[in-house]
Amino acid sequence: MEIDTLRELYQEVILDHNRHPRNCHDLLEANCHGNGFNPLCGDKIQLHLYINAADTIEKVAFTGAGCAIAVASASLMTEALKGLSCQDAEKLFQQMHSALTEKNSPVDITQLGKLAALVGAKAFPARVKCATLAWHTLHNALTHPSDVATTE
Ligand code: ZN
Repeated sequence: MEIDTLRELYQEVILDHNRHPRNCHDLLEANCHGNGFNPLCGDKIQLHLYINAADTIEKVAFTGAGCAIAVASASLMTEALKGLSCQDAEKLFQQMHSALTEKNSPVDITQLGKLAALVGAKAFPARVKCATLAWHTLHNALTHPSDVATTE
């Protein structure tokens, strides 16, 4: 993907999801929770998952407050997670983490759909932790649900 295309996609998608966050509410039936905090920016995200008996994420929502990128990232992530198995959700975390933090990531971002927009945060190094916060929170919820995920 061209860098200009990525930048345009980034601005368009981040603005849209920041103005109109998807799945931004409490989830009473949630049975798995994650808490994330990015001390660098002050972003706080709580993730609420309802995982059914087949180990599939049936419902997902988030609450919290943060900058435009943290909120947009959480919003985009909840859209992507719905219907995924926990295993595939963890795989998606690994892909997003690699795409956002590794210089020569092997991840093909054209396969990521709208999520590719988040990878545009790479052009703004101070914002990368805002973009990865929701994903760290997901990873923690699936692996160490009692800990607070932090980007540090
Ligand atoms: Zn932030």
